[in-house]
Amino acid sequence: MEREHGEKGTGENTPGTERSHFIKQIIEADLAAGKYDGRVVTRFPPEPNGYLHIGHAKSICLNFGLARQYQGRCHLRFDDTNPMKENREYVESIKADVHWLGFDWEKHEYFASDYFDRLYEYALKLIKDGNAYVDSLSPEQIREYRGTLSEPGRQSPYRSRSVEENLELFEKMRQGEFAEGQCVLRAKIDMGSSNVVMRDPTLYRIRNKAHHRTGNKWHIYPMYDFAHCLSDSIEGITHSLCTLEFENNRELYDWILDKLDAYHPQQIEFARLNLSRTVLSKRKLIRLVAAGYVDGWDDPRMPTISGFRRRGYTPASIRNFCDRIGVARRDSMVDLALLEHCVREDLNKNAMRVMGVLRPLRVVIENYPENETEKLTAINNPEDASMGTREVPFSRVIYIERGDFMEDPPKKFFRLAPGREVRLRYAYFIRCTDVIRDEEGEIVELRCTYDPATRGGNAPDGRKVKATLHWVSAAHAVQSTVRLYDHLFTEENPAEKEDFEACINPESLEVISDCMLEPGLADAPAEARYQFERLGYFYADHKDSAPGHPVFNRIVTLRDTWAKIQKAQKNKA
Ligand code: ATP
Ligand code: MG
Repeated sequence: MEREHGEKGTGENTPGTERSHFIKQIIEADLAAGKYDGRVVTRFPPEPNGYLHIGHAKSICLNFGLARQYQGRCHLRFDDTNPMKENREYVESIKADVHWLGFDWEKHEYFASDYFDRLYEYALKLIKDGNAYVDSLSPEQIREYRGTLSEPGRQSPYRSRSVEENLELFEKMRQGEFAEGQCVLRAKIDMGSSNVVMRDPTLYRIRNKAHHRTGNKWHIYPMYDFAHCLSDSIEGITHSLCTLEFENNRELYDWILDKLDAYHPQQIEFARLNLSRTVLSKRKLIRLVAAGYVDGWDDPRMPTISGFRRRGYTPASIRNFCDRIGVARRDSMVDLALLEHCVREDLNKNAMRVMGVLRPLRVVIENYPENETEKLTAINNPEDASMGTREVPFSRVIYIERGDFMEDPPKKFFRLAPGREVRLRYAYFIRCTDVIRDEEGEIVELRCTYDPATRGGNAPDGRKVKATLHWVSAAHAVQSTVRLYDHLFTEENPAEKEDFEACINPESLEVISDCMLEPGLADAPAEARYQFERLGYFYADHKDSAPGHPVFNRIVTLRDTWAKIQKAQKNKA
């Protein structure tokens, strides 16, 4: 079932099969009791009204993971019952994202809209049995009559319409003889129920709009509560997993299936994922795209699956994250740092180390022969010797990071300064002898000397330096564009702010166009991931890179704030 997209960085893991949780316990009890004849059939039911986000990834890993673990199957079902907001672009993006995450629904791709005829038949049955009626109250009146949590609702004056009248009106609704909002089909349950969901919920509403799959065939569209339980039933789902906000809807789920005497899956609720520093509601994500705060749904700052993919996250790290956050029945906020930690963990094992200078400062090594180049051996991944070594060219003029030099360094700055000696990674010790400025007084170049005896990075006389810098040979460097990202929001929990747009971070993107990278990176294939030593992990953007001209997105820095949080908590305990 699991698909491996075997490029470097995806790793090998099958999370979702390791940790136990309450839903697994329910399934195991059902299997032991022989319920559902030992079948396990789950489904992932997105509404195609936006791109999938990391919260959906939790649901995908859960549903597909359970199917795999218990040798069942998981359906991909598009919950396309609202023609107002749904379209094909979203359908295609959802399929691509589920595949990219490493899951496959095989032949089990379904659309709620495929069931419109059957759902309509079910609605007729409810009417004939006196369990549903056409209501002609206005939407405002329906709301008013519904009551509140503390007050019971009132019955609509149309509630006692005869079966014949209801059938006739429902037929007219279907034929498109009414305007939107003029009437609805409601279940006849109990306006006095303590569960507001059970106060004669709407089952069908009029929408005089073409649907992306059924065209103009229908003027009535089923509500989520009606379509969902019956779609589950039609497909023979065993365990219908949804998020906690549907807990009150379970009573209605059960009522509809019971009244229709239909096959009856079990609805089980779990807590939705909330992630710090971001918003996970499609309405808000659509707003970010529409208002141009980001550059599309797959902007690397977006918490969408396609955004994380474009940022350079690996599917394995997202699956691992979903496994680690677990499945529970209590809502919680997960720190974005944990997701980043999972990404680092994967890349640390799999990403090749390279050297790249983001903000270059020219260094001339005055005692190094002109026109000479030598090849120095660099280790591709100290975590994995099997990844081997490579050769990087060294010559008289190199670039180092601007931030690695200070003319007047404070006490704790151990990197390069006038008169001071540092190590160049895999190369030599150099000492700064002079600082060159332009007319404005800006530092434009350093003059240094090197010690030929320190080749490889160690002094035979045992003398030590306090810093090791990355560098790139100027004559061999590849100039490249690199994009650095920061959180999209300045607040810890933007979702709870009244105006989430007010806390958008104006500095979430920095584009640097004259970075200097080691020569091998000219041939970096799109989708390749590297650790730029000391700077973080970077991804060759699959949209903007051209052959010979990779554009890199920083995936994460090397600073693991999650590990720090864990350590602090341990120390406290
Ligand atoms: P949103 O609230 O972001 O608009 P939604 O719940 O309306 O999302 P759907 O397309 O209806 O989006 O969701 C498909 C499935 O994904 C549902 O089963 C839903 O419960 C699940 N899901 C959506 N958001 C989350 C989340 N944050 N955590 C876990 N599961 C989620
Ligand atoms: Mg929804």
